[in-house]
Amino acid sequence: MRLSQMLFVTLREDPAEAEIKSHKLLLRAGYIRRIGSGIYAYLPLMWRVLQKIAQIVREEMNATGAWECLLPQLQPSELWRQSGRWDTYTKAEGIMFSLNDRQERELGLGPTHEEVITAIAKDTIRSYRQLPVHLYQIQTKFRDEIRPRFGLMRGREFIMKDGYSFHSDQASLLQTYQDMDHAYRQIFTRCGLEFRAVEADSGAIGGSGSQEFMIIADAGEDEILYTDDGKYAANVEKAISIPPQAEISPFTSYAKRESPHTETIAKLCDYFACSPTCVVKNILYEGIYDGGTVVLVLVSIRGDQEINEVKLQNELTKLAPQYQSQTLLSLKVASLETTAKLTTKPLPWGYLAPNLPKDNLSVNLINFVDETAVNLQNFVTGANESGYHVVGANWGREFTLPEKVVNLRKAQAGDLLSTDSTEVLLSARGIEVGHIFQLGTKYSQAMGATYTNEQGEEVPLVMGCYGIGVSRLAQAAVEQYYDEDGIIWPINIAPYQAIVIIPNTGDSQQVTTAEQLYRELNQAGIETILDDRDERAGVKFKDADLIGIPYRIVTGRSLSEGKVELVERATKKSHLIPVSELVSTLTHFKSSL
Ligand code: ATP
Ligand code: MG
Repeated sequence: MRLSQMLFVTLREDPAEAEIKSHKLLLRAGYIRRIGSGIYAYLPLMWRVLQKIAQIVREEMNATGAWECLLPQLQPSELWRQSGRWDTYTKAEGIMFSLNDRQERELGLGPTHEEVITAIAKDTIRSYRQLPVHLYQIQTKFRDEIRPRFGLMRGREFIMKDGYSFHSDQASLLQTYQDMDHAYRQIFTRCGLEFRAVEADSGAIGGSGSQEFMIIADAGEDEILYTDDGKYAANVEKAISIPPQAEISPFTSYAKRESPHTETIAKLCDYFACSPTCVVKNILYEGIYDGGTVVLVLVSIRGDQEINEVKLQNELTKLAPQYQSQTLLSLKVASLETTAKLTTKPLPWGYLAPNLPKDNLSVNLINFVDETAVNLQNFVTGANESGYHVVGANWGREFTLPEKVVNLRKAQAGDLLSTDSTEVLLSARGIEVGHIFQLGTKYSQAMGATYTNEQGEEVPLVMGCYGIGVSRLAQAAVEQYYDEDGIIWPINIAPYQAIVIIPNTGDSQQVTTAEQLYRELNQAGIETILDDRDERAGVKFKDADLIGIPYRIVTGRSLSEGKVELVERATKKSHLIPVSELVSTLTHFKSSL
């Protein structure tokens, strides 16, 4: 391909819309164009990168015995009603785009394909003899993300590989799950990426296990907690750890104390000269179940700890049946405005006690206490009255310990590992590029996808699902590999492996040699692009660095000695190579990578 014939436009300045490096670079280097919020066009160079990644994914998936297919993106609401997910996905913070067709039938644009694939399995899988089976696709997904950002990292239209496997039992599922773990490691390694597999939250549906694959990068949206010995790594949403010891409370007797302007833990601890580990803080959340029930949730937790909202969401989802619901639609910290409608008297914000008076409320109240707060003695906590706290309080005396004792605390760097208290948790940021998940029978049961087992009984299919964010992965690679001059693509996913630059298109010897090398390199299987644009040499060199092609060949001054310059993008190392040896040299370089 010739750059002169491509729609190739690079930008000198960082576009204002982009915050992180990879997003800026992909825009500047002309790989992508923003069309709307979370909506991007993949220009020709980007499309080549995406196809390279897709091909690696395809090869590794096929090697496990999975079959590629293509499922519809337009999905009838009935399927999603059968699984019970239509409301969760289309209402409140739901991320599915939905529409009505001309016959007023409701449809959703596929954010994921469990429903579609389970419907197919229900129709086609009859017997254990057909199992196990694994289908996957590489396709555009649609998600109306609440905060689309960082370019391809969190788009509203993006490319995903999603696979779904069906099994007769847990052991068979586990086998495929392990095969996927292996295949994913192969995929990310072949893409040239530094990654880490971490334990992930499987949500309230239980599921027996789930693992995410993270590209380590400071700009990652996820936090990973891990140990130095490499034995433990988990998404912070999932991680559990041992909290630091609480200090002994300086208070020995119970009293209500005036404590003006102490709405925050820091101010409170300053005021009473005590450690935050001597405080029980009480945080009020507001949740809405899919059956329509609104609940207030009061969480009591030790003052130095933060609440892990994923764990809280999971605990509340377990309670859904009590509220004639299947799931929780939304959860947020309650605010003065929202609770004004739910309580008869205004709540004393910043001074809540563990026992919010129930007669004050017009909705259900759920009380949770985190494990960190259970054993505290003589603690400080709110008095349910603005400007007042109580000190020297105890469970079983001044306050009833809530029945629901749960682990809701957020693990933090510096905590000790639960399973080995000699290991300290460290923190890193990561970009989630893959997720493998043991689903069990959640969907098959809900949608009636059964098969006949060896004993002749009809039982639900056991399922697994496995995703890779193909377009997110492409950008994550840039986030991992760039320098001040631009992108440095790992060779296996680079749009081209080499670029031949003609510094002066008016010099016929330069042009002829470049044309010849361009032809020979492509013939030798080295994907090469020719910069034959009528631009200054400096512009061409800058652009070649910016777009990150691994090898640059320049038919410049050294041609008088029968040589061309070969520059490695990653190291900037330059070699003068006789024209006749260029192809063999590069073939050698490429194979040694
Ligand atoms: P996240 O937690 O980042 O929102 P998710 O857990 O909802 O992702 P999955 O449903 O597990 O995502 O989807 C499989 C993969 O698809 C993810 O591992 C991720 O790489 C990719 N992905 C998910 N959402 C997006 C998005 N909005 N834009 C680009 N890629 C995405
Ligand atoms: Mg995920």
